[in-house]
Amino acid sequence: MGKLMHQNLYTLAKALHAQHLDTHGTLQTLLMHSGEGIGVHHGCLLTFDVDDKLRHIYVIGSDDISEVQSRATWEAFLQRGFAGHVFHGQRQVVVRNIASDPRWVVNKDLHAIPQTGSAIGIPFSTDNKVDAVLILAHNDVDYFTSERLAFLEEVTEIAEYAIRNLKQHDTFKERTFDTRYEAIFEHTPVPVVLTDENGIIVDANYQACEFLGFQRIVLRGIPFQDVNVVSAEELAELDPEEEQHFRTETYDIDGNQIPTLIRARYIELDGSQYVEWVMQDMSVQMELEQLRSDLTAMVYHDLRGPLGSIHMAIVKLAELLQGHDNPAVLKIMQLGLRSAQQVSRLVESLLDIQRLEQGATMLDKKPSEVHVLLTDVLQLMQAQAESHGITIDLDIPSVEPVMMDDDMISRVIINLTENAIKYTPDGGHVLLSAERVNKAVMFTIKDDGPGIPPDMRDSIFDKFSRVKYQNAPKGVGLGLAFCRLAVDAHGGNIWVESDGKNGSSFIFTLPVTEDNDLTQVPTAPLNDFAPQANDAEGTDKSSPSESSFATTA
Ligand code: ADP
Repeated sequence: MGKLMHQNLYTLAKALHAQHLDTHGTLQTLLMHSGEGIGVHHGCLLTFDVDDKLRHIYVIGSDDISEVQSRATWEAFLQRGFAGHVFHGQRQVVVRNIASDPRWVVNKDLHAIPQTGSAIGIPFSTDNKVDAVLILAHNDVDYFTSERLAFLEEVTEIAEYAIRNLKQHDTFKERTFDTRYEAIFEHTPVPVVLTDENGIIVDANYQACEFLGFQRIVLRGIPFQDVNVVSAEELAELDPEEEQHFRTETYDIDGNQIPTLIRARYIELDGSQYVEWVMQDMSVQMELEQLRSDLTAMVYHDLRGPLGSIHMAIVKLAELLQGHDNPAVLKIMQLGLRSAQQVSRLVESLLDIQRLEQGATMLDKKPSEVHVLLTDVLQLMQAQAESHGITIDLDIPSVEPVMMDDDMISRVIINLTENAIKYTPDGGHVLLSAERVNKAVMFTIKDDGPGIPPDMRDSIFDKFSRVKYQNAPKGVGLGLAFCRLAVDAHGGNIWVESDGKNGSSFIFTLPVTEDNDLTQVPTAPLNDFAPQANDAEGTDKSSPSESSFATTA
């Protein structure tokens, strides 16, 4: 087959695809392109119902889908004419010379039928039933050469595939699914679209029509990709076994792109596979996320600078006031300094949360001495602990230096220690320890507080997660979220152990090797989640000026 004919076949396949299962469009496209592909200007396509009744009549060059007036003539053509031969014989018939072939019956009422030249009739069949007959005629005798026949053979294959798709689609439209699914589908308060395995929409529920702004009839038969940016690759990669969630954008009738969360899964209805696409409009969440990120940017630009100045001013003032005869002055200075440091840590951690969540690699790692790190934290926290009669002890056997961003890890330890002090009753005890375990150093911050209920031992590391103790100290629930992100960024693990009676131990590990073999880095023991009788009550020791900042950092 020549290059031009190949190109014509490709054009036909593309044109059919663009018809999105529209019956008239598909059949007209088939007729037009098969004629054009081999330079034929006379021809028609007849389609048949399930009971073999003539259904549609398409004529090359005529836009009339069904020439009602002449239907009787066409039926006669089918009964006694050439079309009848092809339809009843169920096979291709070539008439090499119209003028001398008795099968070519000329009907004077059908002006479109040529009286000289050659013709071909091809049945399009699916499931052993002739669905349509294509007739092409040319003014030249013996026009249908083997090359043109080869082209028409390919057309037949494409046509039968397209007709099969149309039939399946029509059956789907007529079919009522499992009534339970149908009821859920229709009345579910979220937009749901159903596609076949090729991504062609077969149905859309009321909410989806509202969301997209299209009528159901318009949505049926078009590719899902026409209303959603889901790519062909994503479609192809859908796992039949597993529900998948992803963020995409949806186009509505006005061309707006709406951020959408999609939940896609394969479902079987009446023995066939379909994909169910549940859509969630994310516009409001996205706006909130934007607001949050603007707020963080504001914090970054507008709070960080002035805070640094306050911090420096207090340090300078304290220097100037060294040796002041009123000891209260120095105490006030120290309190001011501590508070400024706490707010600075809060700001830094807020910024770190945002950056770490975005996956930014921002660690300034260097070898750090573990005992120096813990001793510094102890000194920093000492005054706060003493004001509540809490003792803090250190237990650090000799541990080699660990590669870490020490500013970030020290804020992790401060956070955990501040929490330990905040939740430990007055007169209690906090222990900071570190030890080498396999290929990691394991840090533990142990307290005498109320412990963490078993069902929250994982979730308290989520943002804004807080245990609802009675009289709980103030906080926003960002401290532990920061700790987890920071430890994760170092390739370590963080968890809490608590037996529900003797306080909690917040534990985190940092790998001591850089060889990326993290299999030896300890993680939370699986059996740690021992049941706890009831949530112990927290004691509120937070003074607004000090510890309310502590765990929010
Ligand atoms: P915040 O302290 O600001 O609420 P965190 O993220 O630091 O935020 O802590 C989250 C929650 O975990 C706290 O609200 C508290 O309910 C619980 N929690 C944290 N540390 C302890 C602790 N040492 N003892 C008991 N509960 C704790």
